[in-house]
Amino acid sequence: MKLHEYQSKFRFVEFGIPIPRGKVATTAQEAFEFAKEIGGPVVIKAQVLVGGRGKAGGVKLARTPDQAQRFAGEILGMNIKGLTVKKVLVDPAADIATEIYLGITTDRAARRTVVMASAAGGVDIEEVAATTPERIVRCHVDPFLGLRDYQARDIASGIGLPRETWKQFIDIAKALYQCYLNSDASLAEINPLVVLRSGELLAVDGKMVLDDNALFRHPDLVEMRDTDEEAPAEMQARQAGLSYIELDGEIGCMVNGAGLAMTTMDMIKLFGGQPANFLDIGGGAQAEKVATALRIILMDHNVKAVLVNIFGGITRCDEVARGILAALQEVKPHVPMVARLVGTNEAEGRSILAEANLLTASTLAEAAQTVVRAARGEL
Ligand code: GDP
Ligand code: MN
Repeated sequence: MKLHEYQSKFRFVEFGIPIPRGKVATTAQEAFEFAKEIGGPVVIKAQVLVGGRGKAGGVKLARTPDQAQRFAGEILGMNIKGLTVKKVLVDPAADIATEIYLGITTDRAARRTVVMASAAGGVDIEEVAATTPERIVRCHVDPFLGLRDYQARDIASGIGLPRETWKQFIDIAKALYQCYLNSDASLAEINPLVVLRSGELLAVDGKMVLDDNALFRHPDLVEMRDTDEEAPAEMQARQAGLSYIELDGEIGCMVNGAGLAMTTMDMIKLFGGQPANFLDIGGGAQAEKVATALRIILMDHNVKAVLVNIFGGITRCDEVARGILAALQEVKPHVPMVARLVGTNEAEGRSILAEANLLTASTLAEAAQTVVRAARGEL
């Protein structure tokens, strides 16, 4: 689950990270009032759950309350990468000297939390990571020791921060680490963390991604979920209890079990296709769940073929097949479908599907090859 910028920053401040004390407006009139209250220049910032708002015209500096009102009017309702802006943050404008990047995430390969920082903060950090990765300083944290002062100091020196800001930087890095840990986050990021002309550090932007599997421990954070801002497919999947992750490929996958889903994606790639999603429908493939899964897969317009790969363990294959047929009554797919059912009563399951004109396969290799060809229009 992603948090909005304002939600992330309001969380940061609880851990002692300095942020601009702004307010969230839902109308241009409100933005006008807040700008007047703040006094002086403000920034009007679109609150949408995607990055690159600045470049998309969703961050504007306003010198007067009238200008704040006009910019808020322009930004509210704006479409940024498919999401409609419904709220803007009105922040007192910062007098920025330099912009740095500070982020914390999990380094799976190292099996540790990693703190990353760069002197090249701001709107182009992705490009920095891609073209000049040596400009990003990394430091792994021992889970039993936490982020130590000396490590944060190493980072500060590594990115060339002026010595008089090190103390502040260490406090902020440690606070961000605490915030990351206590929120069960998978990402906590400040970009940019700015050095003001006065020499103070300030978190001007904030981003947090929370681990969905740990949300049960954080009822206060769950409340922050903004369903308006979720991709409709992901929201439907969550409500139906399906694990669904959209990818860039053209082959929709409906699989039971996360391991089998990963294997299915690997096999599709092996035979030259690209999976359009990861989808684990879980145990007991009831018709309703299958229908929801199919609907979600077909919402993605890149999907050119669907592979259903089900292992019938406790659930019998004939039951799954009937579930698929019932789902097809409800959701009419416009693309070819290939099904592989193995396990209890597989022969019966396959014949039910073959009667319904579905392409069937008995091995995973055959299923993957068939669906790749189907997606290319070769069948
Ligand atoms: P993002 O594009 O979604 O990452 O939005 P940010 O909040 O990071 O803003 C993008 C850029 O706008 C920053 O890198 C700054 O250069 C600029 N910006 C944001 N807030 C302020 C501010 O208070 N004062 C000034 N001068 N620039 C700002
Ligand atoms: Mn940013």
